[in-house]
Amino acid sequence: PDLARDVARALRTIRDFPEPGVVFKDFTPLLLDVPLRDRVVADVVARRGSGVDLVIGIEARGFILGSVIAHGLGTGFVPVRKAGKLPSTTHAVSYSLEYGEATIEVHQDAIPAGARVLIVDDVLATGGTAAAAVELVRRTQGEVVALEVILEIGFLQGRSRLTGTTVHALLTD
Ligand code: 5GP
Repeated sequence: PDLARDVARALRTIRDFPEPGVVFKDFTPLLLDVPLRDRVVADVVARRGSGVDLVIGIEARGFILGSVIAHGLGTGFVPVRKAGKLPSTTHAVSYSLEYGEATIEVHQDAIPAGARVLIVDDVLATGGTAAAAVELVRRTQGEVVALEVILEIGFLQGRSRLTGTTVHALLTD
């Protein structure tokens, strides 16, 4: 509870970003608070213990958090990127956005079959991105241990798109 409270204080709310009507949660101040960042990592490490073989982070903020968490867990890190950014052969999954569609990719050879994978991102909103990341891991025959996010925006019900996946949010808004 103390950690959640301190992280809540480090999140900044920006109205009308990236477009009018959107309330954006900015977690960049958390990255400047080194003791707090270390507590966030230690919290994930305590919860996941030695049960993770690989961390995947979702572009772009999931790269930052995922990297420090992978370091804390002592595992490798795998980037999941928007279409066209990864140089080698990929698996790709598309999902719908409010307006249009997005595609994310992972390198086909990055996740060995049976690897226990932790997915990391900053925010769980509608769950579309996270559900696509889960599907990418399944394509590689990896096993999703859990999704870890800093903030879950509860009213968007992202969890409903993630049935069968363990979801942990440090904070729920
Ligand atoms: P979803 O697919 O769940 O609707 O959206 C989640 C993705 O959008 C995440 O990759 C997350 O980084 C980004 N996102 C959505 N809303 C916010 C927000 O308020 N703040 C931040 N930092 N990212 C957001």
